Amino acid sequence: MRARRETPRETGEITLVGAGLAGSLLAIFLARRGYRLTLIERRLDPRKPSTATAAGRSINLALANRGIAALEEVGVMESVRSELIPMAGRMLHDEEGRLRLIPYGNKPHEVIYSVSRAGLNTLLLNAAESTGRVSIRFGETVCGVDFADRQVRFVSAEDPERQTQATPYDVLIGTDGSASAVRAAILERTGGRLDEEPLGHGYKELSIPAGDGGRFRMEKNALHIWPRGEYMLIALPNVDGSFTVTLFLPNQGDESFQALTTTEAVYALFERRFADAIPLMPRLGEDFFENPTGHLETIRCEPWSFEDHALVLGDAAHAIVPFHGQGMNAAFEDCSAFDQCLGDPDRPWNEVFSEFERRRRPNTDAIADMALENYIEMRSTVREPKFQLKKDLSFRLEERHPGRFIPRYSMVMFHTIPYGEAKRRGAIQEEILEELTSRAASLDEVDLVRADRLIAKRLETIR
Ligand SMILES: Cc1cc2nc3c(=O)[nH]c(=O)nc-3n(C[C@H](O)[C@H](O)[C@H](O)COP(=O)(O)OP(=O)(O)OC[C@H]3O[C@@H](n4cnc5c(N)ncnc54)[C@H](O)[C@@H]3O)c2cc1C
Repeated sequence: MRARRETPRETGEITLVGAGLAGSLLAIFLARRGYRLTLIERRLDPRKPSTATAAGRSINLALANRGIAALEEVGVMESVRSELIPMAGRMLHDEEGRLRLIPYGNKPHEVIYSVSRAGLNTLLLNAAESTGRVSIRFGETVCGVDFADRQVRFVSAEDPERQTQATPYDVLIGTDGSASAVRAAILERTGGRLDEEPLGHGYKELSIPAGDGGRFRMEKNALHIWPRGEYMLIALPNVDGSFTVTLFLPNQGDESFQALTTTEAVYALFERRFADAIPLMPRLGEDFFENPTGHLETIRCEPWSFEDHALVLGDAAHAIVPFHGQGMNAAFEDCSAFDQCLGDPDRPWNEVFSEFERRRRPNTDAIADMALENYIEMRSTVREPKFQLKKDLSFRLEERHPGRFIPRYSMVMFHTIPYGEAKRRGAIQEEILEELTSRAASLDEVDLVRADRLIAKRLETIR
């Protein structure tokens, strides 16, 4: 058995499993604290031309305030900025092909940003390596943890025999995503709890290529949505003028992935429900059958750590459905929150891990719930006149009560108010909005004096 490490925390070495978005950013935070890091990553180096592919589950992502705040903390945001496309609102496509923009925020700077997953991951890997404290071992898949000997078991892509090898660790952090091997090891060792809640809907990535000379063939500065009640299509812009399109659909049923077994069936669905997208998608049939159907679920687990050995963070601890565009943002906020738990150098790892979980879990549980709710908003509620009225009224109330009434979407996307608090305040605000709009058909008919009274009574100012 390997001797238990007696090294003081501040001089320790840390092994991270997974050099995706959370792993690469966490490495930068920890290197700045003086730790030495080894990252073990299953993929081959995505920066090498021979292995460059989309580095994960979606080609582009929406980056918002929480993610930006964490990137700013470690000084990489300026390099990220040139890779971003601002999206000022949702561009709704109705079934007749009519367009309507619903702004996300109430102020010009309240936008979210489309960013390439591979581009952002590469930038973070480079920034991590440039600290001089990070070494990355690509092509190694972790398959287990031997806690008694403080060893990680892995299989190397370079080994033709695929034999299991082992490497020692001092402290282990699993940033290995929603199917985390480190999480499995922690839960097995602790007898912990894993809740996997499948959504029953999956997703398929499709594409709209750029027009001549890299021209965007739809409004560039928007997140496009074709809301169709039970399901939806969305599209986010890429810097090369293309859009990455994602079809979200039930797994089973009349209109489902299970039912789409032929190119004719795919085109029939699109002609019926997304007709204006067809001329923009010359590779619809090929994309549909060449790209995998992704699985969507919410994962909650407990505990996130084992003694002073190991912790999970990011999707490994709390994978959520993608409808609030917050999984990566939450993972980046995790990195910052974990860094804040490291302030006292004498505090042992087990206490740091427990403190992190205690602070973070109520918030990651809250964003998991809000992300599920947002699917219904995006695919359905967004089409209703009442949604628009409540949105307009929210913005009006935000102007009348700054720092007191902030639309829930804005609290999540444009502020760093803890998710749990955003959810709690959001529920109160929704009751106020419901009460004020129950008999109003337009903003002019809303009793704003009553609104002021309700807000003064029910919402305290945000500190
Ligand atoms: C369709 C879709 C759209 C999304 N859109 C958004 C969005 O707009 N905004 C947003 O904020 N979030 C979005 N997300 C969520 C976001 O992708 C995740 O929350 C984010 O990637 C989490 O980062 P992570 O580093 O924790 O995990 P990952 O990005 O999954 O990284 C895990 C890394 O670990 C490696 N790994 C896995 N297993 C092992 C192993 N056994 N050994 C070694 N290495 C391993 C993987 O190769 C990977 O590099 C979306 C997700 C999906 C599915």
